[in-house]
Amino acid sequence: KLHNTIQELKGNIRVFCRVRPLLPGENSSDDAKTISYPTSLEALGRGIDLMQNGHKHCFTFDKVFVPNASQEDVFVEISQLVQSALDGYKVCIFAYGQTGSGKTYTMMGRPGNLEEKGLIPRCLEQIFQTRQSLRSQGWKYELQVSMLEIYNETIRDLLSTNKEAARADNGVSPQKYAIKHDASGNTHVVELNVVDVRSTREVSFLLDHAARNRAVGKTAMNEQSSRSHFVFTLRISGFNESTEQQVQGVLNLIDLAGSERLSKSGSTGDRLKETQAINKSLSSLGDVIFALAKKEDHVPFRNSKLTYLLQPCLGGDSKTLMFVNITPEPSSTGESLCSLRFAARVN
Ligand code: ADP
Ligand code: MG
Repeated sequence: KLHNTIQELKGNIRVFCRVRPLLPGENSSDDAKTISYPTSLEALGRGIDLMQNGHKHCFTFDKVFVPNASQEDVFVEISQLVQSALDGYKVCIFAYGQTGSGKTYTMMGRPGNLEEKGLIPRCLEQIFQTRQSLRSQGWKYELQVSMLEIYNETIRDLLSTNKEAARADNGVSPQKYAIKHDASGNTHVVELNVVDVRSTREVSFLLDHAARNRAVGKTAMNEQSSRSHFVFTLRISGFNESTEQQVQGVLNLIDLAGSERLSKSGSTGDRLKETQAINKSLSSLGDVIFALAKKEDHVPFRNSKLTYLLQPCLGGDSKTLMFVNITPEPSSTGESLCSLRFAARVN
């Protein structure tokens, strides 16, 4: 069977690469020799080259965002996916990369800086605006948010009002946070808080609450957040009163744990266990997306909590976008190459 369009040929998986700018104090001395990407932002190039030990590694993605691409430039390229979620599709947007490469900046933005707000607040604005403007056509949308963290293959509810309960994984009830998928592709996580939301302000409030819950029991928040996956889920139920049409979409935005390799973190004990859990779930995610892209019969969803949780939102006619975040620092070339290879495999 011949594929009619590139869309069909490529399926529903896209990979965007984003190179963050050098931060104040970072060494840029041989930056130009290490990494090269499209120079013009307007063209939104697709190729990125990385030099390591005299070898040039070339990669092509669906898009490459250069360091001076703004948050708005990035959002413009994903807003179609947000519309898909409103149209009833299941959508997943991931940020993958080593710690410090810009995953949280891409997803959330810079705290307190509206200009630099990230994809999550921008997606919400688009959704609430669309909801408002479709009201005149008879559409009513109900929106529900949940936020969870997967740490060491264990789910934590970030919207729990009880900080201890957020951490009580198995001790109290073995059923807690068990993942169940029903026949119509809806996911239910036992006892997870799912909150009705009516405005971006309400979601901001919940995001702040989640950030506080995330920091529980750890010294620094960034420390904690780089070791766990953050999963933001928005369920969208639309009903048209005049046509009786119904849509059920899901938008998942996932800030993945840092992808840096074992050796660099010099792990022992608990740290080693954490790192192994992260490696396992990131490689499982890669395996799942690869299997889906290749249209393989067996997709190993059950190999990690993250892929099992997102199973209904990854297969079928759902849409997946992976950001691979890269730092331009020459000292990170090894990690950047690993990230680009991971992303190239699923692209
Ligand atoms: P990660 O979540 O991958 O560990 P962060 O998103 O925390 O990385 O980014 C690391 C640092 O780089 C932060 O100080 C962040 O504000 C900054 N940063 C990341 N991406 C950009 C960007 N595109 N423009 C400006 N600053 C950025
Ligand atoms: Mg982060």
